[in-house]
Parts: sequence; structure tokens; C-alpha cells
Amino acid sequence: MAEPANETFSSAAAQRVAIIGAGLSGLACAHRLAQQGVNVQLFDKARGPGGRMSSKQRPSATLDLGAQAFTVRDARFASKVAEWQAAGCVAMWPVHSYQASASGWQTHEDGQVRYCGAPRMSAITRHLADGLNAFPHAALLLETTITALESTPQGWQLRDANDHQYGTFDRVVISAPPPQAKALLADWEPMLSDACDARPQRGCWTAWAIVDAPLPPPPGVDADWQSLHVQHPALRLVSRNHTKPGREHQPESLSLLAQLDWSDAHIEETPEAAAQQLWEAFITTLPPDTALPPLVELGAHRWRYAQPASAGSQSFLYSKCGLALCGDSFRGSRVEDAWLSGDELGEALLGRSV
Ligand SMILES: Cc1cc2nc3c(=O)[nH]c(=O)nc-3n(C[C@H](O)[C@H](O)[C@H](O)COP(=O)(O)OP(=O)(O)OC[C@H]3O[C@@H](n4cnc5c(N)ncnc54)[C@H](O)[C@@H]3O)c2cc1C
Repeated sequence: MAEPANETFSSAAAQRVAIIGAGLSGLACAHRLAQQGVNVQLFDKARGPGGRMSSKQRPSATLDLGAQAFTVRDARFASKVAEWQAAGCVAMWPVHSYQASASGWQTHEDGQVRYCGAPRMSAITRHLADGLNAFPHAALLLETTITALESTPQGWQLRDANDHQYGTFDRVVISAPPPQAKALLADWEPMLSDACDARPQRGCWTAWAIVDAPLPPPPGVDADWQSLHVQHPALRLVSRNHTKPGREHQPESLSLLAQLDWSDAHIEETPEAAAQQLWEAFITTLPPDTALPPLVELGAHRWRYAQPASAGSQSFLYSKCGLALCGDSFRGSRVEDAWLSGDELGEALLGRSV
């Protein structure tokens, strides 16, 4: 049965832990374990670490496609964010926010301080991934999609899409979004598998647009506006990547985040069609006589598992058979939830808490 870890690693250095997923939660868990001498092997199917905090590099601009900014509420996360600020991979952003409605654009102030990765959102997860190099017993393997887990008398073995085997491991942490975690768990741990079913995910389209000159701001709006909250059936948030710290030299580029209901209804659209509709939705927020600069590039990325349909109540789940789950979905839906989930699971596996 799934339960919090209540056994300790008798000798941390002798333990081998596999972590599937090098998003923020998997990396946070890896750091917590590696700092105590545990042998950690991270796997990610993508070309780089970051998951839903990843950024897209285009010839002229770097675009954040997942999280655009994040808030800090927990004191432990606050101290980690201060560390990242000192390391230069995090800065405050935005400070000039607006909201678009039928009556035009108004300043938007919700009292929250927000941060983003500098010079791109993925700088945070890159910093954490690079930091693992300080531990001789920690490693990250990219472009490796884990497709199966096998229990052997010596421990857990992992198999990838090319039929390579890894292991054995004493513990396996899965930090992938619940539907992807479930695919790996199915035969081994029904309770964890049920927990994944209990956390359905919403999809989200993010479009990007690069234009060849600054957008003329609507009357009364600061030329350096940074983000725009939108009440439109398709579009919910616009952020200007080139206003983010470290990207001042880049051309005007927008990330256009879709509404979740619209995304779910259009999840099978082509990226071209989704991008066009989100760009047209953005244009409706501008005065009709706005002279738009020509588009250099328009595209869209589909997040099939962008965020949980509802907030979770446990930070992580652990089974006595040595399998564990972490990720933002187990606490909430934010960057902070992802870091806390991974960090707390690492701490629990070390037997320092619960
Ligand atoms: C469009 C969008 C906007 C967002 N906006 C905000 C925001 O404004 N503020 C905020 O706080 N949060 C925001 N978030 C949420 C935030 O990005 C997430 O909470 C956080 O990044 C989740 O981290 P994670 O480690 O839990 O999961 P992920 O980042 O999803 O990491 C899971 C990793 O597992 C890997 N993986 C999956 N399956 C396998 C497999 N079989 N083998 C190997 N690797 C695998 C994936 O490649 C991925 O790297 C947003 C997310 C999206 C998508």
C-alpha cells in the first residue's frame, strides 16, 4: 500500500536510486539524495532537463513555453530561490502587468512577487543538472525514455525505448506527470497506479510569436509592458520574452498561453492551427487600428499534461516495494509545488522526516 516513507537508508552511500524525469521535482529529489551520498541515476526522455520549465531556442530569441514566472510562499523554497538568485539563474519578473477586457487594458496588480529563470526559465533546471556534476555518484542520462520497470531479486531494473537495461536500483522515483507515471507502474503497484488515476491532467497549448519590430502599445499602456492577462475564450496569458532578465537584446517575442478549457477542446489541432487562433485572439485585445509589425515566426507547443485538474493533498507517495512518486500534481500545480514535492520525497527517503 502507498504510504509515506518511514524506513531509513541504513547506509546512504550504498543505496542506488533511479529517478525518472529531470524536471524540477526530479532534480530537487536528486540533489537531496546526492548531498547525502546516495547513488542517483536520473533519466529524461527529452534532449535537456527542465520538463514543463523548458524554453525553446530559436535563431533570434529564447521562448519560455511552459511556466512563465513563479511565486514563492514556503520558507524553504524562498531560501532555495534566494540561492538561485545569488547564482544568477533567477530574477524577479514581471513588474509591469496588465489585464485586457472589453474596456481596454488596465494595470493588473495582485500583490504577488514573481520570479523567472534568467536568461531563460530552463536556466534553473540547467543549474540544478549542472550542480549534479559535483557528486561523483550522481548522473543524468538524457534522451532516454524509460518504458518498463522490472522487479528482480537484486532490485529494480529499468528498460528504455531502445531495449537497453539499467540497474539494479534499490528505489525508483517517478517524477513524470501521473498519466505517464501510471504507464510505468501498472503491473507493479496498484495503489500508486490508482493514485495516478486520481490526478487527471489538463492540457495546454502555448503559442509563440516573433515579430520584426516592437509592438505599438495600446494608448495609455507602458511601452515596456511585460505580461497581459486576457479574458478570451481561447487565450489567458501573454508574456513578452524579450522583457525577461537577460534577454534585452532579443527581438519582440510573445508567449501566448491558451485557456485550459479551450486547450482540452482543441488538443488534437495542428500546432499551426492552434498558433494562428491564439495569435488572432491576441490581436482582438488591441485597438482595431493597431499597425502590427510583420510576423517573423509563429508556432505552438502542445502540453498534453500541463497541470492537474485539482490540487493534491500529499507531497509524494511511496510504496514499500521501493517505488515512489513525486511531482507538482501531488501538492498543487506550481513550480514551488514541484520543488517541494521532490525535496520532501528525498528527505523522507533519507529518513529525516515522517
Ligand atoms: C503552459 C504552462 C504554464 C505554467 N505556468 C506556471 C506558472 O505561471 N507558475 C508556476 O508556478 N507554474 C506554472 N506551470 C507549472 C510548472 O511548470 C510545473 O509545476 C513544474 O514545472 C512541474 O515540474 P515536475 O518536475 O513536477 O514535472 P515536469 O516538469 O513535467 O517533469 C517531468 C519530466 O519527466 C520526463 N519524463 C516523462 N516520462 C518519462 C519517461 N517515460 N522516461 C524518461 N523521462 C520521462 C519529462 O520529459 C519531464 O522532463 C506551468 C506549466 C505549463 C505547462
